[in-house]
Amino acid sequence: MSTVPEMFGSNVFNLSVMKERLPKSVFKSIQKTIELGTPLKPEDANVVANAMKDWAIEKGATHFTHWFQPMTGITAEKHDSFISPTVDGKVIMEFSGKELIKGEPDASSFPSGGLRATFEARGYTAWDPTSYAFIKEGSLCIPTAFCSYTGDALDKKTPLLRSMEAINKSALRVLKLFGSDATRVTATVGAEQEYFLIDRKDYEKREDIILTGRTLFGAPAPKGQELEDHYFGTIKTRVSAYMKDVDEQLWKLGISSKTKHNEVAPCQHELAPIYTTTNVATDQNQLTMEILKRTARKHGFKCILHEKPFAGINGSGKHNNWSISTDTGVNLIDPGKTPAENAQFLTFLTAVIKAVNDYQDLLRVSVATAGNDHRLGANEAPPAIISIFLGDELTAILDSIVNGAPYKGTEKIEMAIGVDVLPHFIKDTTDRNRTSPFAFTGNKFEFRMPGSKLSIAGPNTILNTIVAEVLDQFADELEGVEDFHTALDALIKKTLSENLNIIFNGDGYSAEWPVEAEKRGLLNLKSTPEAIPHFADQKNIDLFVKHGVYSETEIHSRVEILLDEYSKVINIEALTMIDMAKKQILPAASAYTKQLAETAKTAKECGADAVYETELVKKLSALTGDAYKKVVALEEKNIKAHDISDVEEQANFYHDSVFAAMGELRAVADEIETLVDSKFWPYPSYSKMLFYTV
Ligand code: ADP
Ligand code: MG
Repeated sequence: MSTVPEMFGSNVFNLSVMKERLPKSVFKSIQKTIELGTPLKPEDANVVANAMKDWAIEKGATHFTHWFQPMTGITAEKHDSFISPTVDGKVIMEFSGKELIKGEPDASSFPSGGLRATFEARGYTAWDPTSYAFIKEGSLCIPTAFCSYTGDALDKKTPLLRSMEAINKSALRVLKLFGSDATRVTATVGAEQEYFLIDRKDYEKREDIILTGRTLFGAPAPKGQELEDHYFGTIKTRVSAYMKDVDEQLWKLGISSKTKHNEVAPCQHELAPIYTTTNVATDQNQLTMEILKRTARKHGFKCILHEKPFAGINGSGKHNNWSISTDTGVNLIDPGKTPAENAQFLTFLTAVIKAVNDYQDLLRVSVATAGNDHRLGANEAPPAIISIFLGDELTAILDSIVNGAPYKGTEKIEMAIGVDVLPHFIKDTTDRNRTSPFAFTGNKFEFRMPGSKLSIAGPNTILNTIVAEVLDQFADELEGVEDFHTALDALIKKTLSENLNIIFNGDGYSAEWPVEAEKRGLLNLKSTPEAIPHFADQKNIDLFVKHGVYSETEIHSRVEILLDEYSKVINIEALTMIDMAKKQILPAASAYTKQLAETAKTAKECGADAVYETELVKKLSALTGDAYKKVVALEEKNIKAHDISDVEEQANFYHDSVFAAMGELRAVADEIETLVDSKFWPYPSYSKMLFYTV
């Protein structure tokens, strides 16, 4: 058995493999391509492709694939083998630079939101050299961007790469004013991934989880998460074996899986990697989700990545830890040790605060999905309102800057930017609040709204772009001023005083917060259909176009895709509920009622009064009648939804009518579940699924 260092990255065509296998000059040019984005010469690409192929074949690969991330939010791949026939009827293994750099998958079956007419089905995948190629299931996978014939981005990676460029440019402008010698600024991310594991046998009996990823029915188990005995509790042996297997596969792919533990809800677990650049972190998180799912099968589990698989207990999220740092090794979200570093930290901190306030709508949009609607505002995840948690100490410092009042921290000082040394915020003073959607955690921000299934490309594209915009505004104001520090001081004071409304250190789950937030003028976009259209608000179009992240057409296409996806998800859920109610729940209730009625009849013939049976027959009959009516109502509403042609109107109808009708049906069906003999019940209960014993 190999050691972890031997195992780590063994399936990745990384810099050390390249250094070993490429001629020095080619290695130098690919290194430049990776670090600075300079294009690779065709002859060098051929050499790289050939080395990649030889390496992959040695590792047992037979195929290659351009691995990309269409707007479905999952990954796509089309595998080609390396074989190339020779005249003598044999084959040789070939892979050219052209094949490495560009692919032409049929794009017609991926969502494009009108960007690509189906008759023009051509789409291109283009190699992203900043994310290493790797081997998965016998294929050499080449991370790529995916765009249409006309050059519009059809994927999630392209805008993310563009946003990284935007923040690099804007941050460098600001850093230059501080006299920094940095030449590149990169946004970094560590994504904590939550998931559920249930026994595969239970999963196979649940049509709802199979088709929709979550339970659409299910009475609560007698026990939930109230004893708080799962979080950080001992990990079950079987789960441990699964986690070990997952870790080893991740390590081989160069993914630095670092932390694993149980989460709050029963059967819920978490995995966290060490952070890396937003682009690589996104690719790696997609791979992590894939491996979590695939490995579960091997261990007799089903891994559920849905944001809310079970009602009444916590759902799963993906905490997006985000920061920006320079190629000179400075984390710009970390208070430094000298006054100068602190002035720089305060500038970047202020920029993030203003960006989050100015673009609350976009951050909300970036996490809006049908599944995540169950979490946001549901007393477990942060509310749908965006606010920033800074912790009392940092808030007090910012207050003192705004008011010119002394800061009452460890020392009573009047904070002057560029003069005083800030205390170093240790995690303890910054991370106590778990209810905030956007929390400063000492040296990074933790965006806690993304759902567990979401590709983090979206939220990070938004984060990078909005912060780039504010940094640009700062640079516009500060470049060319006579006295930099006076101007900076005034800018920070002014910006902070205009944006203190977004800072909230209190309890985000409390009933008072939405009322208070409204007074502060903060947005509360409660559902996906309500949030998504804001993507295309004029101020947001201006932002994306200015920074070259999305074109106006690309924005409109995304609005359409996201709304349409919402409608599709609710439609599938509604149809699954109808199917389960008609074919499983009502027949089970009916069969049990029949047995009770027959028992009552026989008992009465014997002179007994059969109170239990008689009462239950009446109760069940009334409830099944009610459930049946609710099924019919749901069916009617769902049919009506199909007839709406406007995507926005349709998504709203799905939310207001269909989704509401689903809730009504579920309430009755779950009550029936509590009354029916478990031998008659068609699918495993919450207690069976959540408290499996082996
Ligand atoms: P927790 O939030 O669970 O208490 P940590 O604070 O140790 O745990 O880390 C959470 C995540 O934040 C990890 O994935 C870690 O890699 C990531 N992280 C730490 N520093 C940074 C940074 N500078 N940029 C981005 N992510 C970071
Ligand atoms: Mg965390």
